[in-house]
Amino acid sequence: MVIRKQSADPQRRRILQAALAAAMASAVPRQSRAATRTNARIVIVGGGAAGISMAARLLALLDGARITLIDGAQQHIYQPGLTLVAAGTWAPAQVIEPEARWMPRGVEWLQEYAAEIDPVAKAVTTAGGKRVPYDFLVVAPGLELGFDQIAGFDPKLIGSGGLGCVYASPEAALGTYRMIMALAESGGDALLTLPHTPLKCAGAPLKLTFIADDLLRRHGGRSRSRVSFMSPLSSVFGVPSVNTKVLELWNERSIGVAYGHRLKAVDPGRRRAVFATNAGDVEQSYDFLHVVPPMRAPAVVRNSPLPVQSGPLSEGGWLDVDKDNLRHRRFPEIFGCGDINGTPRGKTAATVKKGGFVAAANLAAVVAGREPELKFDGYTSCPMVTSIGRAMLIEFDYEGRLTPTLPGVEPLTESWFAWFLEERMLKPAYFAMLKGWT
Ligand SMILES: Cc1cc2nc3c(=O)[nH]c(=O)nc-3n(C[C@H](O)[C@H](O)[C@H](O)COP(=O)(O)OP(=O)(O)OC[C@H]3O[C@@H](n4cnc5c(N)ncnc54)[C@H](O)[C@@H]3O)c2cc1C
Repeated sequence: MVIRKQSADPQRRRILQAALAAAMASAVPRQSRAATRTNARIVIVGGGAAGISMAARLLALLDGARITLIDGAQQHIYQPGLTLVAAGTWAPAQVIEPEARWMPRGVEWLQEYAAEIDPVAKAVTTAGGKRVPYDFLVVAPGLELGFDQIAGFDPKLIGSGGLGCVYASPEAALGTYRMIMALAESGGDALLTLPHTPLKCAGAPLKLTFIADDLLRRHGGRSRSRVSFMSPLSSVFGVPSVNTKVLELWNERSIGVAYGHRLKAVDPGRRRAVFATNAGDVEQSYDFLHVVPPMRAPAVVRNSPLPVQSGPLSEGGWLDVDKDNLRHRRFPEIFGCGDINGTPRGKTAATVKKGGFVAAANLAAVVAGREPELKFDGYTSCPMVTSIGRAMLIEFDYEGRLTPTLPGVEPLTESWFAWFLEERMLKPAYFAMLKGWT
């Protein structure tokens, strides 16, 4: 796909220069203390954005620590890029990296999945039966997509019969793009869903809605199509000001919204989706259905003593961490990082960047015999793509307050620059984070 060429006006040049300067300044390592000498055994479960960046940070903070990272995945997926694959602007290969390339030197990589965590005996057992004792544990296995909670749906169907899901894999993201393009030809009903659970990048289902609308307009199918967003809640995004802005844009673009609709079943043969509502089940036909499944903690955490014990976050098995210092609330030698954390908000790579900095520094403080010293504010961010070539840079904290960090970039204003960030700058920033530089 070819994107409209934009002329480089002086204002755009100034913004670019400011942003690049900010990015370069934040790429400088920010280690303020000398490394602590230790021979502690540190085990990290999970080698995604959180696990790899935590390993890199801990190597810099702790001199002599024996760090073992457990993860059976051979590929590292740059997940924020999946949205661009579904928009037809990136190829799947642009988001796939060999895991080995990013594994920090000095870390022992155990290429297996963790099957059990015993926080009393302080040991992790792998799927292959290997027992790995630890002094300190970092829990970072991300989250699990609960496709099994949608009756009749099989992720293998993504990319056929009008079914899409940007979350499942790079191939699924490409399949999603193909299904949107098929709709652009045929016209028809597009239904885009949201789960009732916490989800990673809560902006992604909304981005896909904007992208589907835009692709239909560009390729001539919009006037023959209806685009509807199906929310199980009474809003489409958890931050009220962002919710209002998105609804305003959708209203202008004739994108409909149905509240209180939770996708519970799909009949792929008849192209029908069943939604649970307060008034009972409602069946709707679709020509394109974007499925965003319920999300939960991976079984290794969900079925351990580690999840949140009560309150709304106790559903789904999320890790019971203190939201401020990211230390486990009952097992003090355990810290959490990334999507697994049972915190009020923050399942983005941007959260890993700032939260990981806090978690690593606090873990290093505990190794050195001090109390955790840093506090995390819940920083979460996502460039909300509103069409191909435009986005809004949304940044907020635990309280849902907008926390813009780039001078001259208004959070609730569509701009080419926010798109440029998403398309060109986030990936290098993500890899700098994996290196522990930012
Ligand atoms: C479509 C999409 C769009 C997104 N857009 C953005 C965006 O614009 N901006 C942004 O900041 N973030 C975005 N994100 C979110 C971001 O990618 C995640 O928040 C981030 O990857 C979380 O890092 P993590 O390490 O917690 O989980 P992951 O990166 O998912 O890594 C988890 C790792 O744990 C491993 N693992 C799982 N189970 C086990 C086990 N039992 N034992 C050992 N290892 C295990 C996995 O193999 C994997 O390597 C997006 C995500 C998606 C899917």
